[in-house]
Amino acid sequence: MDYSLGDIIQTRKQHPCGSDQWTIIRVGADFKIKCLKCSRIVMLDRETFLKRVKKVIQKADDTPS
Ligand SMILES: [Zn+2]
Repeated sequence: MDYSLGDIIQTRKQHPCGSDQWTIIRVGADFKIKCLKCSRIVMLDRETFLKRVKKVIQKADDTPS
């Protein structure tokens, strides 16, 4: 699976605010994700990120052509 900026993802564990949906704001050796509900930003190394992600809800480039 390939992740890119702006993707909406769901994590296996909920954020303390109750949301489990995040948008990706940085990719690379480290990933930054922002909680869609409370806007908290979390930085994770790639390995941790890949373990936390449950699924991609919406790809950023998923635009109808
Ligand atoms: Zn949150």
